[in-house]
This record gives sequence, C-alpha cells and structure tokens, in this order.
Amino acid sequence: MELSRRDFLKLSGAGTGGLFLYGILNWDKALAATKKLPLKKRIGEKTTVCPYCGVGCSAIIAKQDGSIVNIEGDPDSPINEGSLCSKGASLYQVANNEHRLTRPQQRKPATAEWTETSWETAIEAVAAKIKETRDLSFTETDKDGNVVNRTEAIASVGSVFLNNEEAYLLSKMLRSLGMVYIENEARICVSSAVAANGETVGRGPMSNHWIDLRNSDCILIISGNMAESFPVAYKWVTRARRNGAQVIHVDPRFTRTSAKTDLYARVRPGTDIAFIGGMIRYVIDDMEANPNNYNMEYVQHYTNASFLVNPGFAGPADRLDGLFSGWDGSKYDKSTWSYQADPGQPDKIKKDPTLADPNCVFQLLKKHFARYTDDKVVEVTGTDRATFQQVCRSYAATGRTGKSGAIVFSSGACQRSTGTQTVRSFGILQLLLGNLGVAGGGLNGITGAVNGLGCTLQGLVNHWLPGAGSVRPPNSSEQGLADYGGNKARLTSLVKAWYPNTDHNAAYTYLPKRGGDYSWQPLFKAIEDGSIKGLICWGMNPLVSSPNSGSVHEALKKLDWLVVIDLWETETAAFWKSEAGANPAGIATEVFFLPAAHPLEKEGSICNSSRWNQWRYQGATPPGEARDDLWIVNRLMLKLKQLYTGQREKNTAAINDLAWDYGDPPDVHTVAREMNGYDLTTGKLLESPTSLKDDGATSCGNWLWCGMYTEDGNMAARRDTADPSGIGLFPNWGWAWPLNRRIMYNRASVDLNGNPWDTSRPVILWDGNNWIGDVPDGGWVPISSSGKYPFIMKPQGRGHIFGPGRTDGPFPEHYEPWESPLPNPMSPQQSNPLLKSWETMVRGTVADYPIAATTHRVVEHLHTGTITRRLPWLLELMPEMFVEMSRELAEERGIMSGDTIIVETARGSVTGKAMVTARLKPYRVNGFTIHYISLPWSWGFMGLSQGDSANRLTARIGDPNTGICEFRAFLCNVRKG
Ligand code: SF4
Repeated sequence: MELSRRDFLKLSGAGTGGLFLYGILNWDKALAATKKLPLKKRIGEKTTVCPYCGVGCSAIIAKQDGSIVNIEGDPDSPINEGSLCSKGASLYQVANNEHRLTRPQQRKPATAEWTETSWETAIEAVAAKIKETRDLSFTETDKDGNVVNRTEAIASVGSVFLNNEEAYLLSKMLRSLGMVYIENEARICVSSAVAANGETVGRGPMSNHWIDLRNSDCILIISGNMAESFPVAYKWVTRARRNGAQVIHVDPRFTRTSAKTDLYARVRPGTDIAFIGGMIRYVIDDMEANPNNYNMEYVQHYTNASFLVNPGFAGPADRLDGLFSGWDGSKYDKSTWSYQADPGQPDKIKKDPTLADPNCVFQLLKKHFARYTDDKVVEVTGTDRATFQQVCRSYAATGRTGKSGAIVFSSGACQRSTGTQTVRSFGILQLLLGNLGVAGGGLNGITGAVNGLGCTLQGLVNHWLPGAGSVRPPNSSEQGLADYGGNKARLTSLVKAWYPNTDHNAAYTYLPKRGGDYSWQPLFKAIEDGSIKGLICWGMNPLVSSPNSGSVHEALKKLDWLVVIDLWETETAAFWKSEAGANPAGIATEVFFLPAAHPLEKEGSICNSSRWNQWRYQGATPPGEARDDLWIVNRLMLKLKQLYTGQREKNTAAINDLAWDYGDPPDVHTVAREMNGYDLTTGKLLESPTSLKDDGATSCGNWLWCGMYTEDGNMAARRDTADPSGIGLFPNWGWAWPLNRRIMYNRASVDLNGNPWDTSRPVILWDGNNWIGDVPDGGWVPISSSGKYPFIMKPQGRGHIFGPGRTDGPFPEHYEPWESPLPNPMSPQQSNPLLKSWETMVRGTVADYPIAATTHRVVEHLHTGTITRRLPWLLELMPEMFVEMSRELAEERGIMSGDTIIVETARGSVTGKAMVTARLKPYRVNGFTIHYISLPWSWGFMGLSQGDSANRLTARIGDPNTGICEFRAFLCNVRKG
C-alpha cells in the first residue's frame, strides 16, 4: 500500500513522533527530508509485516531515492498498534547490510573457496543436479507392485519465512518432481501441538488470536517466555492484566515473563504433564463438590466426558506400571481404547449424561489423575506447594459460566519426547473449564516464525499437501482417486489447479505415493546413511537447528550436492570450510548458494500465528543480484520443464503437464488466485471451500486459502480498522483462515439454543434467524434443532478429553525425559515407552552428567540467529553465547559470572560465558538436590558473533506422534574452561 507523506505524518502522531524516530536512524537524511520539499517526491512509504516471529506486527517502510531510510511500527495495525520489539525495530539493518551475499556462489568438490557465478549458470547447474539425481533414483513401483512415482534421493528442508505464495509454488514444484522428503521447521518446533490439538479439538493452531487475550480473566503461560519470544503480543496479556485478569507463569526459569505476572511457579524441565495433571485433579474434585462453579452443560454436551468406554480399557491407575491396556512390549493394541456402541444414538455411542458411570470418560479421567496429588506434583515438578495450590484455585475460577481462561504455550512445551501428551493435557483442562470457543479462552500454541503456519499449510512438510490435514499425500495403497482416504473434493480441486488440462483421475496418479517416514530426523538419518544424495535448504539452517548438530555436520559430508537459498552464508552453506573444523579437500559435496531477497524486498501474504493473513508490499529492491524466492522457484521450474521437454518415462508427465504460467518475473497475484481457486465452469474465483467439487469442476490450490482472493479482491490486503464486535475481532483487517473466522470452535461459546454463555463478550449469537458476530464454526442452526455439535472437525462434534487417536495413550501420563536426573516418581516406566530414537551416541547417565539442562530463546535473536547475528544493533544488546546457572551451582563449581565454561553431554560440548543469576534455583526432590542450567540456541560458527550451537548437546530423540525432538531436557556436566 502506498501512503502519502501526509498520511504518514498523521499516522506518526501529528508528525513529530514519526520524524523523531526517523531522525534517530538517520539524522542528516531526516533534516534533508524535513527541509527540502516536496517530501512526497523524496519519501515513499510501503506497509510490510515484520519478518521475524508469529505475532505479525505491521511496519511502515520509508524509502528515499530507492533506499530504505527508516522502518517503524504501523500505528494502524490492530495487532501491534505501532509497536515493534528490538528485532522489528532493527529491520533497517537487514535492509542495509553489507554482509549479505548478493551473487550466486558455487563450491566445487574438494575445494576451499566459493566462486561467484551467474544466475543462468547456477540455475542450469542446480536443475541438472536435480534431474540427474531424480532420474537415477526414481522409483515407479514399490516391491508390492504399487505405482509410487517417487524419488527418495533428494530432500528439501525449508522454510518458515517464505510468503504463502512462494511456499505454495515451492511445494508444487517439489511434489511434481516426485519428492517425498519435504520438511520444514514446524516439525522440530511445534509439530506435537498439531498432533495434540488435532486429537483434542480437530485443528492444530491457535484457536483464538493475539488481541483476544485482552478478553481473558486468567492467562496461563506455560513452558515459554512469551514476553521475550513474542514481545509485542505480550501487550495483550498486559492489557488483560490491566482489566483485572490474573496472569500465571509456569516455567523452569524465572524470566521477564515471570516478572510481569501475578503468580510464578517454578517447575523442573519436562514435568508439565504432572503440573497440569494436578490441576485437572483439583478441577474434577472441585467440580464434584461445587458443580455450580462450573459450566457442566458445556462438559456434558460439548466434550466426550459422557461417552462410555470399553470396559476392557485400563490405564496406569489400574495397572500400576505406567502403561495403558494393550501394551505388547513394543506398541499398543488400541482395541480397548474404544467407546461402547449404542445403535440407537445418532452418533452410535453409549453415553451417561450424569457422568457417574465408572466407564464414562469423566470417571476414567478422574481415576487417571487422582494419582496426581499435591504431594506428587511437588515431588515430580519440584514446584512450591502453596504456589501450585494458588494456581489451581485461580485457574479453576475460569470454569464458571461467563468466565474465560487462555492457555498460551510454544515450542518449550512441544519439544519433548512427551510433547504431544503435554499439549493434550492443556486441551483437556480447557475442555473441562469450558474455555474453548469463547472470547478470552483458547488453546493458543504459538508458532515461532513469521509464516511457520502458512508455509506448513502449503505442504512444506512431508505428510501434508497444500491444505494439510484432510489433504495429505496419498499412500502407496491409494492407487486411484477412488481409493484416496482424505477429502476427495479438496484433493481433486488441488490436482485441477496443478494439472488443469489433464483428467483429474489421471493427474492424481502423477502424485508421489508415500511409503515410509520422511520426517526431519529420518531425513537426516537417510543423509547420514548415504541414501539421500542431494539436499535443498530453503531459508533453513539445519546445522544449527537440528539436534546433535555434530552428527548433522558429518551427514552433510555424505551429500553429492547441496543447495542453500538464503540471505547470508549460513553455517549449513559453509559446513565444508576449515573454520567449521572440516578439511575441505576431503569433502566432495558440491555446494550452491543462491542469494535470496529479504521479506522487505518482496510482495505477498503471510499468515501469523493467529491465522491472520496480511499482505506485505515490496519496500525495496534486493541488493545486487539477490532475487525473491518466487523468482528463484519460477526460474528453477522453468529450467526443469525445459530439461524434461519431450520425455515421458519415469512419470515426467507430472513435470511436463504441470501448469506453470506465472510470467517471468512471476506475478504473485496470479499465484494467490490459483491458491484461492476457480469455478472452472464460469471462470470466476471461488468464494468459499464449501463449493469445492470432486468431479473436476473446481480448481483450488489450497482449500484453506479459498476465500482470500475472490472476485471482490485480495482480502489479505484489507486494512479496515473497524471492530463492530467490540471484542477485537477486526473482521476486515487482513483475512483469517478458515473462512475469515477469528475464534475457532465458536459455537461452543453459546448454549444449545445459541445464547452466549458470556453476554458481556459474545463471540456469536443466534438471533432467531441468523448468527450474529464472528463467522460461526459450522453454519447450522443451534444445536437444539440441528444436533450439530461445535467441534466440527471431530467425528461426533465433541472435544476429546479421551483421545484414542494418539499412539502413546488416550490420557497424558508423566514420563521422565530420555535423559533425566532421577527415577520417574509416578511409575516404573521411566520414559515414554514409545519415544523414537535416531541417536547413535550413548545415553548420558547421572553418574557422568549430573546436571539437568534446558534451552531457551532471547528477544534479541531469532531462532538459529542466522539473521540476527549479522545485526550490530542486536549484537550490542545480546553479544555472545552464554550459559545461565544458579548461584548455588556456580558456588559448588567455583564459577563466577563472566567465566568461560564448558558444558558437556554424551553428544558433544559447547563453550560459553557463565551467567550466574538468582533466576534459576536448584530443586530439592526426595532429598536430592538437582541443579540445572539453560542455554540459548541462537549461536553458530558464522556471523558477526560466533559461538557454539546449543544443539551440539541435544539428542536425536523424538515424540512418538510426530518425531519432534527433545530439545528441552537433557543431562550435562559443567566445568570451568
Ligand atoms: Fe512483532 Fe515479532 Fe517482529 Fe517483534 S519480532 S516486531 S514481536 S513480529
């Protein structure tokens, strides 16, 4: 969007505030800008969205003579209201950064230097490598004779920083080549939240949105440092607190978040299930004693609490071995994790609305968590008893009809071998308290990266195509479209978007069919084993972000070729250099570096953690020969199509028949319209995914994005700040999927007749003829007439307290991390019986590694620090790798703040500066003292500030449901360097 200077001054608070900020950044130019008229000729403004975290703050880019001279918060944005955190405020240094690589580079095998090359040569060489590897490895049929049309010799990781349109096009290209090893950061960041929330309520992301936090009566932030990781969003927590809300923080570290809350409970890393389990036990006991304090109608009707479970089901409370019924020593037979049938019921399930039957979900839940007494919670978590009890009382108060509580969490809760069940425990608590669907409630799992959600939903993970969930890649057994077990209308519309001139049944056979686990850790194991020959890293830096990064370094040496698309020479791009400890002469990997544009330099939509899509505009031209990712994907695919012209063997029809006509340079709006989809009988853009057809009459690149770009225009570009709801929905600012709904499951915010539980903060209401307010989650008339329950993604429309779909249990159970300082106080089952391991190193023991460790973020750096370690302003604030430890541990080891120390695990060691604080304190558990430390994960061997990556310490251990890594709890030892 173009803003006039006058608009700009108006937005900046009568001019002076804006000019003041502008002046700080560039006083000489500011003076010139104020004195020399006409200003509008000299200063042009564009709006953008901050490219760092999932908050999605809007910013205004000011340009002068083609260069960015200032970037500041956009006061129109209802999300950030003009604020930016330290990262957003230093974007100016990304735009004007001398360390960016601006020409394509090539590193020939066994050489010690990059050589600059042209785009034409680089694209031609990369396309040739892809073609050669694909053709040599292509599998047309598997050992059972199924047509699978895939290559398992090329992998792609990335990204979470692309615009949606770029991610969609990349996904389209990779799938057309037959690739199946396709992953991005979401796998190792929050994938367990998706698996958990999918089981509990049907969808993975934040159910509510940032601004809605202001409506909350109580906010529980658990295992995360929201005030530092998502600083501008924290204003909505502060706003809620100002309105009288209580804010609770549960975390191993006392952080800036803890300092801004009412209650802080310290817990041992990896013990959230025990803490929340104790809260669930408290709520159930209180619910039975004081049912009027809870919304029992919600529990009875909107959850599966009343469902009767197979009498053969047993859990840890019955078996005393920490396991559920059906365990055969290596896996569960889940046949007893089922409901009792009642053919007379509409959903065929027997129920007890009184919740008294011993086999109903409510009673089973009560029995399961009865073991999580106050004593046990204190024993397992090391928390303070009185604080825990106060947390229980405060949060349970949100169960009263008309009250709401929000749970906020991020990767800290997810990156564990019990990550899925940890997040399941949050969902169960919210369902018991009636906190889903209502204003100020929610299961708010935050995505750390700006477009982590959008990129993942464009199919940049191996198990999803664009549209995710119900639009998954077919398996080997699903040979024809008729066999496909996902949503046929959505998939048919997807293949019509990709292959409009091919019959949809034929086009379906072009898609690669899955035959294994292609997720992050198996992917790097396959590189290590030599079966993957080529790797594309698109805006990702796995040499810093992967667990046991030393093993990743060794694995990369096995590649024939590696392509890195980024702004900077990342650790991954430079893994072969002698500074990385490698001998270049002994490394045969050919490496290509393709210089990408920064988000400030390109146009497109991005989806924040709250599911809001906002359009950002190109604020500057990329430096040198850097190109935006859309341009790079487009050039690469055009070259591949040229190379495959005339060939038909090895499923090359999937490449030749692929629709690819976006212009050169490509038009981002054409891509956005393809994602939205068309009615192919009229040529009109679709309004809603409800009109998708399974007969080939509609095309739609991503059904979740259907409605964003309609005949009425680009909805993501809307900037209307009106809020007729009065509760902060801002329905015409950007566009939220699905269907511009701002609060998911919102029919749970009303009773069976459509009347809001909370009349002061209604999300929707039934006026007798229509729903008023937010877009209802399911457009039926009220439940009393329709019988359609509010959690529409679940088979019976009810939230799942009992969750039989996960591999490791229908209820969460506390297990210790893979490496733990003590025996599991809950049961003889030490760790998750189904945790996945790709680790080849030994497991560290307490004898050798007596100190518990966890990892964390800092506000000044983003994730691996690939960007932020190049920015002097941020490095001035957070200059080097450090290790935080308690005074007690420091005294025991003779360490002072500022000393160089070495942290060692069974995988490797890192060196950093000691930061001795009172924020960490040892735990006393069963007479033992347990010390722990915490390390940021934002350092590597490149950049202006170099340091060891914390992931040299972590293990290749994963949650059984998604394989997410256990970054947050492991054993180490510490000594002075
Ligand atoms: Fe906002 Fe996140 Fe950017 Fe900070 S990093 S300005 S909180 S979007």
